[in-house]
Amino acid sequence: MSATARQYQSWSRLPFGASAFALVPARADEVRRPSGGDGSGQSLLPFGRGRTYGDTCVNPGHGILDTRRLDRMLEFDAERGIVSCESGVSLASLLALVVPHGWFVPVCPGTKHVSIGGAVAHDVHGKNQREAGTFGCHVERLVLWRSDGQRLDCARDENAELFAATIGGLGLTGLILSVELRLQRVTSAQFDVQRVRCTGLDDLLACETDGEDFAYSVAWIDSLRPARAGLRCILMRGRHASGPLGSLTAGRPRARGGPQRWAPAALFNRTTVRVFNRFYYRQRTHGGRLRRQHFDAFLFPQDTLHDSNHLYGTRGVYAYHCLLPLAVARDAAAELLERVSRRGDESLVTVLKVFGDRRSPGILSFGRAGLSLVCGFPNQGERTLRLMGELDAIVRAAGGMLYPAKDARLPAAMFRTSFPAWESFAQHVDPHFSSSFWRRVTGTG
Ligand SMILES: Cc1cc2nc3c(=O)[nH]c(=O)nc-3n(C[C@H](O)[C@H](O)[C@H](O)COP(=O)(O)OP(=O)(O)OC[C@H]3O[C@@H](n4cnc5c(N)ncnc54)[C@H](O)[C@@H]3O)c2cc1C
Repeated sequence: MSATARQYQSWSRLPFGASAFALVPARADEVRRPSGGDGSGQSLLPFGRGRTYGDTCVNPGHGILDTRRLDRMLEFDAERGIVSCESGVSLASLLALVVPHGWFVPVCPGTKHVSIGGAVAHDVHGKNQREAGTFGCHVERLVLWRSDGQRLDCARDENAELFAATIGGLGLTGLILSVELRLQRVTSAQFDVQRVRCTGLDDLLACETDGEDFAYSVAWIDSLRPARAGLRCILMRGRHASGPLGSLTAGRPRARGGPQRWAPAALFNRTTVRVFNRFYYRQRTHGGRLRRQHFDAFLFPQDTLHDSNHLYGTRGVYAYHCLLPLAVARDAAAELLERVSRRGDESLVTVLKVFGDRRSPGILSFGRAGLSLVCGFPNQGERTLRLMGELDAIVRAAGGMLYPAKDARLPAAMFRTSFPAWESFAQHVDPHFSSSFWRRVTGTG
């Protein structure tokens, strides 16, 4: 186990401050609390791959438990589709192992460069949330290290409360050492994908509901277009293709190198995004025909750019991800989009998904029925914070909630109303674990 001085940051590049120290255990049996010296009085927070836009993955002035080296596959039952791995294994490695055997990870977020521990701790969702629920719905068991040295097996029928607190538990219940996951059967590495152009929210929602054949769907919205000119969106939906198992590499898009670091602000601004949006809206639907795409291209388009977070410039980006109850979702989403499209405050990336009601076992899970809307606002300081305050008011009035994994400034009161179970969750927080997010929303920082 070694300490490094590296700074552990959030993917947003917002300046949360540096951690005091980092522990990087190479094996599960090396994990322990620092004692009798530096770090003994400070809290710990697990860190996977830092693909989090908010501050749930940072612990300024305190310690980090980096899981990068806990990256061993432990067991794979290719007959039954059950895999067990250490928590630092990446989703990319897991897919590379299981897809050639005709299995798929049932829930994948928009990047495959996350760790399995991170996917559990945020109980992440994918484009198929409506059908598959969240990541936690597919976790069979996990092993949790607590700061008193215990290693606890947790499952629905063993340490069940701790299991429920750890799924979506924001890294606060202890360090997940390993995870056992139930996989989904597939016969190809390809997806059948369709793009449908929609004008207006009603059109989009109608298309969404007639797309039952497609387990995966997400809508891209051109939110730089003024609301009065009418909403333009593209619904992208897909399903696992059937056929002989494709090779994992066939048709796979190649990752592009990282020149973004030299030209972020110059290349990704309102004007260039407006031009891109116009082109994207007109060119990319292929007349609604089904096309075959490798899962990398369909599920992880952002991974084709390394360091895509540098595109927003050095001041970073605020992600705003809310979930609106279905009964009021249409009107609330229209109001949010209208507010967001005002000149000067635009979201450079806006996507919408319909969530289903498959409940996660996680106490704090974000996965529940509703309409999910994600925006990305380049950080303009007070101006951006004011805008998000206005959006909060709309979300609160609609009875909606914000996703902690993407949040960097959710007010404590709104967190407590949105997650009324937070107090029962808090009983399972390890006394030596904390984060910037947790101190903020519980007022303990
Ligand atoms: C391009 C992009 C697209 C995304 N798309 C989606 C999406 O579609 N859906 C979605 O839900 N999310 C999405 N996300 C968010 C991302 O999936 C989550 O933030 C994920 O949890 C990050 O995993 P990580 O390994 O990088 O964890 P980190 O960012 O390092 O940490 C995330 C949390 O997990 C905890 N944690 C990490 N490892 C462990 C462990 N071993 N034990 C206990 N706790 C642990 C940390 O303490 C922290 O609270 C996206 C992010 C990016 C950058």
